[in-house]
Amino acid sequence: MSSYEEVYRRSIEQPEAFWAEEARAIHWHRPPDRILDDADPPFRKWFAGGQTNLCYNAVDRHLEARGDQLALAAVSTETGVAREVTYRELHREVNAFAAALLRLDVGRGDRVVIYMPNMAEAVFAMLACARIGAIHSVVFGGFAAHNLALRIDDAEPKLLVCADAGSRSGRIIPYKPLVDEACARAQSPPPHVLIVSRGLDPAQPRVAGRDVDYAELRAQLGDAEVPVAWLESNEPSYLLYTSGTTGRPKGVQRDVGGYAVAMAQSMRTIFDCAPGEVMFSTSDVGWAVGHSYNVYGPLIGGCTSLLYEGLPVNPDPGIWWSLCERYGVRTMFSSPTAIRVLKKHDAAYLRERDLSKLRYLFLAGEPLDEPTAQWITEALGKPVIDNYWQTETGWPALTLMPGLDMKPVRFGSPGFPNLGYRMKVVREGSGETVGPNEKGVLVIEPPLPPGCMTTVWRDDRRFLDSYFSHFDELLYSSLDWAVRDEDGYTFILGRTDDVINVAGHRLGTREIEEAVSSCPAVAEAAVIGVADELKGQVPIVFATLRDPKADAAAREQAARDMQRAVDASLGAVARPSRVYVVGALPKTRSGKLLRRSLQALAQGQDPGDLSTLDDPGALEEVKRALGNP
Ligand code: AMP
Repeated sequence: MSSYEEVYRRSIEQPEAFWAEEARAIHWHRPPDRILDDADPPFRKWFAGGQTNLCYNAVDRHLEARGDQLALAAVSTETGVAREVTYRELHREVNAFAAALLRLDVGRGDRVVIYMPNMAEAVFAMLACARIGAIHSVVFGGFAAHNLALRIDDAEPKLLVCADAGSRSGRIIPYKPLVDEACARAQSPPPHVLIVSRGLDPAQPRVAGRDVDYAELRAQLGDAEVPVAWLESNEPSYLLYTSGTTGRPKGVQRDVGGYAVAMAQSMRTIFDCAPGEVMFSTSDVGWAVGHSYNVYGPLIGGCTSLLYEGLPVNPDPGIWWSLCERYGVRTMFSSPTAIRVLKKHDAAYLRERDLSKLRYLFLAGEPLDEPTAQWITEALGKPVIDNYWQTETGWPALTLMPGLDMKPVRFGSPGFPNLGYRMKVVREGSGETVGPNEKGVLVIEPPLPPGCMTTVWRDDRRFLDSYFSHFDELLYSSLDWAVRDEDGYTFILGRTDDVINVAGHRLGTREIEEAVSSCPAVAEAAVIGVADELKGQVPIVFATLRDPKADAAAREQAARDMQRAVDASLGAVARPSRVYVVGALPKTRSGKLLRRSLQALAQGQDPGDLSTLDDPGALEEVKRALGNP
């Protein structure tokens, strides 16, 4: 077998030859004319002129060899349903869903917003869009109406597909009222809403002429077969919105051919999961990992994908491991936060299970702290592989590659650049490469490899400004600080911008500030992320009120209103853990908020250089509020 070093070198030195070979792993209706069209950097076109389809590669292609193999096992400990679907059944379900899309006038290039929890129909809906060339945009079910409305207005969908409700620890969370509210707030609401009901919230009223029940429509349409739309490799396949430093989310756009090739390759080289083997990703389908490794990766790879709806501790903290045993999971993918939740419980839950088929646990989305890594490595007795990703990259950017050769794990480091990623750590400002163990910004030299975003939806300018405008040289900035040690292991040291990471969920402090500031009593707010033992980081708020004479009761009420406003507009994921009402926020004389000082104080650290501070009283008040005068 070739070593990582050899394969990586080839991917960098001879990208066209390398990716031409990798492209053979998927089906092309028409082969590409060019492997890489790099005429307009940093935009690039992988497999230009080639025609393919994600749904065909994930479903139809496997019918002959593995029609009766399990493609998807969707297990819900919330509803008590385990839905097991073979590739043949998946084909039937996806075709039926595609027929419903066509009936609702959805066609190639149209957008479809999907707002569903981890249920089988979310996967059918995504693949049905891919089949007919519609562009899906899955919105995480934990997001509230305002967030959904922002995404609707940016994507301008022809259709919104939703579940009637989600469920958390047995508590029903109706989705339909959130959808109705989002549609009412949006400038461009979709003409139709297709509801997949699980009977969790049967009393919801329907909007005449707009709302359609999927089960009824399906019964009308019967089992139809819908032809595959062959798409040019660079047509958009899906959009996935992510937070930046402004309140407006960015629509990360992905292609078809490059993504399919990246998925096929990563299943082999990174996740070491062969056709017929089982992959279990605990991510929500609404996140990047959910798209790539709950849906497209394992299915394109001819594997079985295990999809889970529920908490990791329900009915008991052994549930994931009992699923690993029941389905013979080989490769598991989760997040550090989930493992920190499990770490509070006895490791015996793990040891009681037969995990002999389990080979690896990959963890992504946020820094993996050493105590957590050590606990789970010891408890499992298998390699635990830290994966560094961004929604933008769509697949691992830094990783170990056990499918090639298993390098030793070094705690705290996600390892080495994935194939095709020309990564460097450079000095902020000058863009010069830093030496070993020197801190810098992690960047990728274009062309970005297949699988990574192609642009920001309908906004090439924003793509350039957000990612490629930080250095004189054309470099993709990850906006993460990093160091690389003398052996080439890279360590991530946190964001360079105002984005925080709560339990692996990326949130812009600006969007939380906007939600808080929408409270009538609030004059100004500053949101920062502080370290949290369980979630990695949590948001906290410092706010001033319009009425400087507000008494204690009014201040408390305002603090509660702020938390409620965040819940209502962004969802509980963004809920501030603490709200401090203060008389003034610390600012520089030019009026810039001293965020880093606030952050340092909130974490009990030195607030740093305060020479530009305008009003020392403001800082004193923050200290008093925090209880560390
Ligand atoms: P998202 O796009 O939501 O996946 O967030 C991406 C961000 O999460 C990155 O820019 C990092 O700041 C952080 N992140 C993801 N994976 C890791 C990791 N393995 N180690 C440290 N930080 C990570």
